Amino acid sequence: MALQTTLDEIAAELAPRLGEGKVADYIPELAKVDPRKFGMAVVTLDGETAATGEALEPFSIQSVSKVFTLALALGRVGDGLWSRVGREPSGSAFNSIVQLEYEKGVPRNPLINAGAIVVADVLLAGRQPREAIGEILRFMRFLADDEDIVIDRDVAKSETETGFRNRALANFMRGFGNLVHAPDLALGVYFHQCAIAMSCVQLARAGLFLADGGRDPVTGRNVVSRERARRIAALMMTCGHYDGSGDFAFRVGLPGKSGVGGGILAAAPGRGALAVWSPALNAKGNSLVGSLAMELFVRKTGWSVF
Ligand code: GLU
Repeated sequence: MALQTTLDEIAAELAPRLGEGKVADYIPELAKVDPRKFGMAVVTLDGETAATGEALEPFSIQSVSKVFTLALALGRVGDGLWSRVGREPSGSAFNSIVQLEYEKGVPRNPLINAGAIVVADVLLAGRQPREAIGEILRFMRFLADDEDIVIDRDVAKSETETGFRNRALANFMRGFGNLVHAPDLALGVYFHQCAIAMSCVQLARAGLFLADGGRDPVTGRNVVSRERARRIAALMMTCGHYDGSGDFAFRVGLPGKSGVGGGILAAAPGRGALAVWSPALNAKGNSLVGSLAMELFVRKTGWSVF
């Protein structure tokens, strides 16, 4: 069946469920988003794009950005990153502080908030926050092959004003000596990367290199090495949905990363990348309808790694 038909079927099947769940309201600007929005896009390795619903409407990518900053930080410091961040699933919430104390300020993995703040700290080395943020934004534009991608300043401001838990995580890690820069500088980078706004089509296109062993199959350019792509995908599979990662692997079986803006990016090796957006979240902070959409997609296409 054509991918377009598959996506349209998914949109129709899930229409009655739109709005189920709860939008993230701890970032006031995200609370304003209509919970019934839905978009989904697939980009195949040969560059074919299929999209349904509001797949061209930009949304706040939030933690999906962590995959891309991880790729950048590995490019910068390579395996040196692993002395500061672990590679194990956390089994706890995205913003949990408990484990950090037991594990002496070393976050479990780079896809939880604490880990991503360390990654932001790595990206700050030798740069001003503005330069580090600019570098992340340029990377997203390059990967998505789209210069129109911007940071939503209102979301960044909203999170800067209310990100008390993230501030606590950053201060805690700095106390353990695991942040090199002042917590506010690392947080500045982190809040702005989370506030990048992208559509499903742009996000799927940007994630395509993860489905082709680190190479952008459309341009033929190598983004990361094959081994690095495999490792990033492994972390997405085991850690990309916080304490809901096991369930996502069970139901979908693709390396994926969610964000509290309601977006999910998943890579199907050898086939393509998919992105979905539906802002209302489940109890674990992952898009409720978005996760169902991914599950339906895999059921209809067989695009799972298992
Ligand atoms: N900016 C969000 C936070 O730090 C990201 C969380 C997420 O998307 O899961 O709370």
